[in-house]
Parts: sequence; structure tokens; C-alpha cells
Amino acid sequence: MLWLALATLLEVTPANIPQGQVAQVKAPSAAESIRFNGRVLPLFSNSDGSKYGLVPVPALEPPGKKTIEVLNGAREVVERGILDVRDARFRTQNVTLGKAQTGLKPAPGEMETVAALRKTISPVRYWSEPFVVPTPGCLTSPYGVLRMHNGKPTGSYHSGVDQRGAEGVPIRAISEGVVRIVKKFNVHGDTVGIDHGQGVTSIYLHMSKFEASEGLQVKKGDIIGYVGTTGRSTAPHLHWGLNVHGIPVNPLQWMNLTECAPKPAAPKRKVKKKS
Ligand SMILES: [Zn+2]
Repeated sequence: MLWLALATLLEVTPANIPQGQVAQVKAPSAAESIRFNGRVLPLFSNSDGSKYGLVPVPALEPPGKKTIEVLNGAREVVERGILDVRDARFRTQNVTLGKAQTGLKPAPGEMETVAALRKTISPVRYWSEPFVVPTPGCLTSPYGVLRMHNGKPTGSYHSGVDQRGAEGVPIRAISEGVVRIVKKFNVHGDTVGIDHGQGVTSIYLHMSKFEASEGLQVKKGDIIGYVGTTGRSTAPHLHWGLNVHGIPVNPLQWMNLTECAPKPAAPKRKVKKKS
């Protein structure tokens, strides 16, 4: 019978993910939203009448089996699913900052503007998979590492990724979207933020030069600026972040990025060749 078929239509893909990743859900057409982690998240319409949504798992979410509740228009639970969150085993990383960096204070409105972009959920979906890599450099610092500043724990984790890049290397939009932030900030440096629609946003920091303006509609791969070292940064690199429904998530789920080779160890003493 049809209602039986509908009642079992909730799909959670993948059903088992590490901290910092995103599950996609597919739900019956009568579903309006889902509840996860105490938050109500929107669902959007597929072309076949079913609904889909994104469920971001925060980096610091305790591992375990979590319930996803499907809600109707009256916010009644019509169905439940399980998302199994596993430990991502994030590493710890120390960052050495000089006085010039630790003394930086955010510009007026800087933190609020960045937080507002992260929470943006516009109804139109611009984004499409696969996402493109914004700059070719290898990964110098992955998402999720627990950060220490000058040997002291900060209590926070790396909410984006750092990619190697010389000053002036182009930075590209990871997907289609509308540019919402083009600002010279104190801590984030010269920053571009893009709304990819339906709760997906990306942000690019420490730029040396902009190639975008607020309100501009961009295509996947369009150049939006150039690598630099403005703001709280010790050398030219690209820090960028991906957010889903306000939660910073791991871009590695959406694209391939290779970690840079570890720094070579101190040279060993020469060993005489055996004759
Ligand atoms: Zn970074």
C-alpha cells in the first residue's frame, strides 16, 4: 500500500560518518523539516516531489548513534532515522603567532558579518557537485585539528583548511553562488564569502587582492581573488571554510585535497659506504 511505502522512505546517506561531515537525507513529500541535535533544519523539494536536506555534524559532536526526526508542517514527528557518528580522530597542532598577530582585534562588525554568512539559508539552490578545489596548493593544515597558539590550548578547532599558495595565486569559487562578503577585515584579512544556497556557504581569507564584488553571481571555478597574508596570518596561504546550516564542515568530504609532505627531518650524519 502506498502509505506503507511512504512511511519507509526516509533515507540517510551515508548512515555512518565521522565528526565534521554531512549526511544527506531524502524524505517523503509530506515532510517539512528535520530535527537533529536539538535543531530544526529545513528540507527542500526534489524534482520528483520528495524532499531532501543536509545534516551537518559538528567537529566536536560526541560520537555515537544520533536520531534524525522527520517533522511535518505541524512539527509533529512522522518518522525517525539513525545517523551513526564516529570519532574523526582529529590531531592537535601548534601555531606560533607573534605579537602582531595575537594583538589583532576584530574590526567593528567583523565577527557578526562572518557569523551571519555562516547561518544564511537562502531558498534557491545554486551549488552543484562536484565542488572544485579553490587553489592548487597542498593542504598544510586540515579541518578539525585542535589548535594551540604558542603552545597553549585555545579550546577551539580549525574550522576550515589551509592550502599552500604563493602571494597572487588565483582563488576560485568552489561552486555556483552569490558573493555576500567582500571586506577588508582585521583578523580574517581580506575576505570573500559566497552563499551557495540552501544553507551551504564558503569563505576565503587572507587575500591579497579581490576579484569579486558583493551581489555578484559566480559560476563554479570563477576567480574571486588572490592568495595573500592579510589579517591573522604569518605567511601567504589560503584559509577557506565550508559551512552547512551554520556548522563549519570538512571540505575533504566534497573534494580531493592532498596533505603536504611533512617537513624533512634534520639531516643525518653521513654514513660511510661499505666498500
Ligand atoms: Zn586556517
